[in-house]
Amino acid sequence: MKKKTNIAIIGTGYVGLVSAVCFAELGNKVIAYDKNKEKIKLLQKGKSPIYEPYLEKLILKNQKKKRLFFAEDINQAVKPSSIIFICVGTPPLKNGEADLSAVEIVCREIAKNLNSYKLIVEKSTVPVQTGLRLERIIKINQGRNVNFDIASNPEFLREGSAIYDFFHPYRIVVGVKTKKAEELLFEIYQPIIKGKFKCPIHPVRDRQKEKVPLIITDINSAEIIKHASNSFLATKISFINALADICEKTGANIKDVAYGMGLDKRIGREFLNAGLGFGGFCFPKDLQAFMRISEKHGYDFKLLKEVERINEERISRAIEKLKNHLRILKRKTIGILGLSFKPNTDDIRFSPALKLIKKLLKQKVIIKAYDPKAMEKSKKELPEIIYCRNPYEAAKNSDALIICTEWQEFQKLNWRKIKKIMKQPFVLDARNMLNKKTMEKLGFEYQGFGA
Ligand code: NAD
Repeated sequence: MKKKTNIAIIGTGYVGLVSAVCFAELGNKVIAYDKNKEKIKLLQKGKSPIYEPYLEKLILKNQKKKRLFFAEDINQAVKPSSIIFICVGTPPLKNGEADLSAVEIVCREIAKNLNSYKLIVEKSTVPVQTGLRLERIIKINQGRNVNFDIASNPEFLREGSAIYDFFHPYRIVVGVKTKKAEELLFEIYQPIIKGKFKCPIHPVRDRQKEKVPLIITDINSAEIIKHASNSFLATKISFINALADICEKTGANIKDVAYGMGLDKRIGREFLNAGLGFGGFCFPKDLQAFMRISEKHGYDFKLLKEVERINEERISRAIEKLKNHLRILKRKTIGILGLSFKPNTDDIRFSPALKLIKKLLKQKVIIKAYDPKAMEKSKKELPEIIYCRNPYEAAKNSDALIICTEWQEFQKLNWRKIKKIMKQPFVLDARNMLNKKTMEKLGFEYQGFGA
């Protein structure tokens, strides 16, 4: 029988909340704290402040089993716990560096409340050498002279499949300085590493039986693994987007090219989807933070600068395509399908859809938008557009319809009906999710990226 561990989670956003719920589901006692009191109040009632498949169900289940608690005071989480995960945000500063102020504040608060040995783990994405800096901050601010360890345990979950990814990761990375820290982290991840737990989502899935590699490194290497992984994936996306432009110029088809490349295992098919580019709270900011930290250490990471440039260009490419078709954008009505930065999440942070809308608004375009989950969050950031109850309302009397996020439900729409209700049947499929021939057969003028 696995030993239960008392775990504190600081920051209940996408990463913290998912980690809290999943560690509780594995049988541990988890106390999560967030400085946002409204969030904590909502969570105490069993309601999730974010949309993520299975999340709310698992919050309720683990609260009922008395394994998951939400605290309004950081002491209540820190004092009884032996492992503390820092999961607060690390947003970009104006110069692109990671803003580590929240991580540092949390470390000072933990330091004041150290009552016995604790393992303090950075799960937030941070630049290399942050762990060492946090260790110094805690030593300086420590109320009592008790032992502690710092570790890095970067998180690789993807929003939209976060619970699944937490339970079935490609690898678990832990950066440690001591054997004790390594053993404690091994202990709590053991069920996942050995594939010996009942997955609450896919109880009979085969992957569950697979062993998950545990990578043990020093703290600096673990921090770099995270930045390097995200930067590499972003590079793949920009690479395929650059290829899409070449395909358009030469009459090749990017979908075939990506398929042909992706079958090579050294390349792989994932992240070779051309379109509007990447967004979200990870890739854009992590790319920038990695460039800045490299610069600080005397390396000019020009490759990543180009990755970022290609990605930013995607929005102008979409506008170019619209202009080629509509000629004049002013006072045209454009329907937008999808606002979140990717499907199955309500997260709109650095969403390419919002970037595109803001540019179109500057050109006096009328925007009617629909998203299955992200409209409430978008209304706060973009109150000036029309929000529709369904995709058909967004399409009605529109001069163009742009698919900005590849939600599955857009694939299954009644496109025949949409053709009839649009003012001009022009679809810009900025995620290449529909079939060009089928759309043209239905009478649409269809444009994707890279063909
Ligand atoms: P988030 O903004 O959703 O959540 C951060 C939470 O921290 C918020 O609820 C905020 O109120 C809380 N917080 C901020 N300062 C605090 C403080 N002083 N004390 C207590 N709580 C505080 O962010 P996120 O998406 O969960 O990301 C968190 C970290 O994980 C970031 O470093 C991010 O790069 C990394 N990460 C994110 C993802 C992802 O898909 N979102 C994946 C892997 C890693």
